[in-house]
Amino acid sequence: MSDLQRMIEGNLARVRASIAAAATRAGRPPETVKLVGVTKYVGPEVVRALVAAGLRDLAESRPQQLWEKAAALADLPIRWHQVGHLQRNKVRRTVPLVAMVESVDSVRLAAAIDQVAAERGRRVPVLLEVNISGEAAKHGFAPSEVEAALGAVAGLGHMEVRGLMGMAGLEGHLEDARRQFASLRDLRDRLQPVCPNGIALAELSMGMSADFEVAIEEGSTLVRIGSALFEGVL
Ligand SMILES: *Cc1c(COP(=O)(O)O)cnc(C)c1O
Repeated sequence: MSDLQRMIEGNLARVRASIAAAATRAGRPPETVKLVGVTKYVGPEVVRALVAAGLRDLAESRPQQLWEKAAALADLPIRWHQVGHLQRNKVRRTVPLVAMVESVDSVRLAAAIDQVAAERGRRVPVLLEVNISGEAAKHGFAPSEVEAALGAVAGLGHMEVRGLMGMAGLEGHLEDARRQFASLRDLRDRLQPVCPNGIALAELSMGMSADFEVAIEEGSTLVRIGSALFEGVL
């Protein structure tokens, strides 16, 4: 086994163990938390090592980088997630490549995804991104806008809203992150019973390398982890 492969396997095992421990602390089975590996810092060779180590759900934040990686790694059984801002003029190239778009931040973007999915005869799972930190530079619906957005996208038959995604503020401490994650869970719990027909907000995508344990304790079902998987490699 190469040094790279050994390092990646060690990192993956460590992250999985931390996820399992946090889930157990929260009284949940570890398998209720999905790990998505964010590969934006590394090239295709390192991604290959990660897939060989057993991770299949991977993400990019920039659509262009997702296109490039998907092309370079087309021989691998990767489920790609788009997790950063998706411009509407990039929807047509992105939708065919992804298993999920986690960063739907406008009704117009949702409509564009739905249209391309309809043309391709598929139904694309998505999450609505919510700006839980209130930082102006962050994308996402304001928490107060999410209920109306759910109503507006409910009629889009080629898009399946599976839940909400949020990122903690960059400047804050862990306890600020915890409060923001709890607010996203509360929003989900409040909207779940009043959701339009056909929408179930089962997924809460929250938590990155610095704060995933806190996110899991607050109800995350999907963590998006980059740097912690590449320690020693970057
Ligand atoms: C980069 C990125 C991540 C992963 O960040 P790390 O701190 O490296 O784990 C998660 N989500 C999004 C949207 C990102 O852009």
